[in-house]
Amino acid sequence: MESRDDTIAAVATPAGTGGIGIIKMSGPRSAEITARIFKPRNAVLPLKSHRLYYGEIVDPDTKQTHDEVLVSFMAKPRSYTREDVIEINCHGGYLVLQQILSLLVTAGARLAEPGEFTRRAFINGRIDLAQAEAVVALIEAKSCASLKQAAQQLQGRLSLHIKGIQDELLSMLSALEASIEFPEEDLELLSPSELRAQTDHLISQLTDLANTYSEARFLREGASTIIAGRPNVGKSSLFNMLLNEERAIVTPLPGTTRDCIEEMLVIKGIPLKLADTAGLRDAADIIEEEGVRITNQKLDRADLTVLVIDGSIGLDKCDEELLNRFRGTKAIVVCNKTDLPAKVSPDMLKRHFPERQIVATSALHRTGIEELKDAITSALLSNGTCLTSSTVITTVRHASALEKTLESLEHAKQGLHNHIPPEFIAADLQFAVHHLGQITGSSSSEEVLDQIFSRFCVGK
Ligand code: GDP
Repeated sequence: MESRDDTIAAVATPAGTGGIGIIKMSGPRSAEITARIFKPRNAVLPLKSHRLYYGEIVDPDTKQTHDEVLVSFMAKPRSYTREDVIEINCHGGYLVLQQILSLLVTAGARLAEPGEFTRRAFINGRIDLAQAEAVVALIEAKSCASLKQAAQQLQGRLSLHIKGIQDELLSMLSALEASIEFPEEDLELLSPSELRAQTDHLISQLTDLANTYSEARFLREGASTIIAGRPNVGKSSLFNMLLNEERAIVTPLPGTTRDCIEEMLVIKGIPLKLADTAGLRDAADIIEEEGVRITNQKLDRADLTVLVIDGSIGLDKCDEELLNRFRGTKAIVVCNKTDLPAKVSPDMLKRHFPERQIVATSALHRTGIEELKDAITSALLSNGTCLTSSTVITTVRHASALEKTLESLEHAKQGLHNHIPPEFIAADLQFAVHHLGQITGSSSSEEVLDQIFSRFCVGK
């Protein structure tokens, strides 16, 4: 495990060549180590905080000049890590960066581990764990909506929300504990009905927050969306229409999309992992059989299914079976080939599947595409809270911490209902505080921290 007293250094810009590369250093010896290899022009050492210095990197042993650089020094605590931080802006070649880094290491720095700068920011109390995780989310954001969420989490909106709930829990807990400790005083700091009302209120607040998870996950990771249906109904044509490029092979022969083709695209701010699948029918050969097997597997895991029906042929048993299979999950029905004489109309489909959104398209004439996009986004974001709410759950870690908090509160609620002794209620509330604390890191173990920070890149 790393020590917090040493000085760490890493290349902070991505591998490869670029105009500028940045090396970052954090720790008590940052300024002193830099002074060994940096010769400022028109300035004298020691470096002053929050200034930018122009100069050269010079090997102290060989006196060789390595690069012309800009160096900034941010003295603690006004820095990313709340330690002394140096940033060296040099030219962005791999060798230049490696040579300067190695000079820093020779002068006394240690190579940083993945996420170590952000971990120090967390340990030194500049950010909490949810904010640290937002740094990765910000870097990995795939859409403007997920970028916005990550920025809000980094600002501490989620942390503030969690902290508010934690404070409420703690004040309930202290009232309960006072009545346990001094029973003879007859302290009625919170009546049982007040306790019940507060517990209900917290459960409802946490449930709302937990519900943002699935929608926010779509924004972060992309919603897996499957285009399914019988062969030849126009799945590949619709897939292409959405992608606006000819990727899948479109042919009049049934059964040509033999396995799954997946593409990433962003529709109205929501990233989709859109898959065109093998037609669902009895396979004609072994390759197609494999395609149908993969399709079935994907359908079971999809966030949204777009079931395509050929309006010029009408419904058959296979379509109905498929729709019944999606009962309870997110699915929309597309009535395609509306340019041909209709055997089944969108209105008839609506009567048949009243709970489904029905969209009429003609992939051939490129009509209905906007309606299809609207239907996809509104099916995925059924209440759209995560696009407007500033406190959103985006990681499975936070979602499972919330789930455990809710379990403890439900248990407390049950206990209050059954008039069990207050000690047990207090224990449930303590569990709730503990689980909630895992989100912000106030009650996270070293193993959890290792797991989180190992997902970071070196230099962040
Ligand atoms: P898939 O097997 O479901 O992927 O179907 P394809 O996208 O390969 O299309 C099968 C055939 O139907 C092709 O000849 C397409 O040109 C045709 N097709 C697809 N969509 C339409 C449509 O909206 N109208 C008409 N008239 N033909 C279409």
